[in-house]
Amino acid sequence: MRTPIPLYCLLSGTLLVSLTTATQADENQAQKTKTGTVLVAELAEDESVEDIEQSEPRKAQSTKEAPEPKPSVNNRGQDTPDNPAKKVAPNIDLKEVAPPPTAESQVTTPASSAPASDPETAEKVAEPEAETPPADETTPEPANSLTLLDTEVLPGTSTRLAWSPGIQIAGLSQPTPVLVVNGAHAGPTLCLTGAVHGDELNGIEIIRRAMYDLEPDKLSGRVVGVPIVNLPGFQQASRYLPDRRDLNRHFPGSPDGSLADRIAYSLFENIIRHCDMLVDIHTGSLKRTNLPQLRADMNNAAVAEFTRGFDRMAVVHSTGSPGMLRNAAVDAGITTVTLEAGESHRIQEHQIEAGVNSLNSLMEKQGMISRMFVWGDPEPVYYDSDWIRTEYGGILFSSVELGDRVTQGEVLGYVADPITNAQYPIRSSSDGRIIGMAVDQVVMAGFAAYHIGTEAEVPGE
Ligand SMILES: [Zn+2]
Repeated sequence: MRTPIPLYCLLSGTLLVSLTTATQADENQAQKTKTGTVLVAELAEDESVEDIEQSEPRKAQSTKEAPEPKPSVNNRGQDTPDNPAKKVAPNIDLKEVAPPPTAESQVTTPASSAPASDPETAEKVAEPEAETPPADETTPEPANSLTLLDTEVLPGTSTRLAWSPGIQIAGLSQPTPVLVVNGAHAGPTLCLTGAVHGDELNGIEIIRRAMYDLEPDKLSGRVVGVPIVNLPGFQQASRYLPDRRDLNRHFPGSPDGSLADRIAYSLFENIIRHCDMLVDIHTGSLKRTNLPQLRADMNNAAVAEFTRGFDRMAVVHSTGSPGMLRNAAVDAGITTVTLEAGESHRIQEHQIEAGVNSLNSLMEKQGMISRMFVWGDPEPVYYDSDWIRTEYGGILFSSVELGDRVTQGEVLGYVADPITNAQYPIRSSSDGRIIGMAVDQVVMAGFAAYHIGTEAEVPGE
């Protein structure tokens, strides 16, 4: 067990003082690679590194059981109109306090939907068609309506809602799109979250493709997608919230805490608690890239079983760090994994395809969709993994590639000092596979450069 206070917190706390304003930090960020200025943002480790290094080892027996989901729904902090499901364009008396434009929704079908990037222009709600009778070839159980964000979504329909954490100037508030497909048949609720870190783009596209491909009249269960959780970060190509905090360290949040606490709380109470299962999609960060992989607490029997539904996706055991969405959701009885795909700031087709494929396999495994799905060979489960850090600062050059199998002592790359001409090899700590690594770049001593996974002796056990 490591210290309960993550190192990044201490570093952040110290260094924040030296930054005059958050705004300046934002401006500086654009120049950081040119000037070499060390910012708080760069010192905070990403979940790719931290959740592994803080992880408890896997126990021999999986005895921990997931608690029952808590049904409570708290709409505190949620600004919504009184009757969003049935409203037509309102005739607003400007002397009255108008609801902020946060919770408009539009019922659509996936085939006719454009990407949910511009919710402000969404038209007022059209009432969905009357209850859709299920096709009765197999007489599946009909579904119920789903009420989310004060809006009723009828069975067999899909819609675009908006979530607003209520932290902005109300009149300027910008809602975050939430995509909902409520299947015609009863089943579990699967939630997908992307861009909790605003610069992690692959997940946004993974969610779009997975959701727009669904047919509500054939779906058993519900799929709720929040493609861009951290909308302010996304708009600034930043991993962080406007206050420089990492949202993924503040779940389940608090209604009266920091900005990050409040956003986390609002998301968790208004959306996450409605989920039975959650896939939180991330990428590597700080110029690191990952093989498509799940991060999952394999000590949790329900989570371990859940990972078997993801086709062609390596599984890395990780108990995670406090404040992560994954940890908070599991604590609330929601079966949750993190899906890591590729690098931040990039759209990577092969990573996106891998993510969409595994979500489709998951939905089929859960009985939500029925497709002619062809399963690939099972990927290994990595119960043990280590990040190897550089001992020297310099320019990192790798000799290995993502996915390579390596042996203990093998040279993975080297750090070259551009002034002294010294070259420092970096060696593998164990036999295993490169499941994550830094791209070639300038590094300082201590930078986590290679993530070596050691396969479980009994894969998928
Ligand atoms: Zn992330």
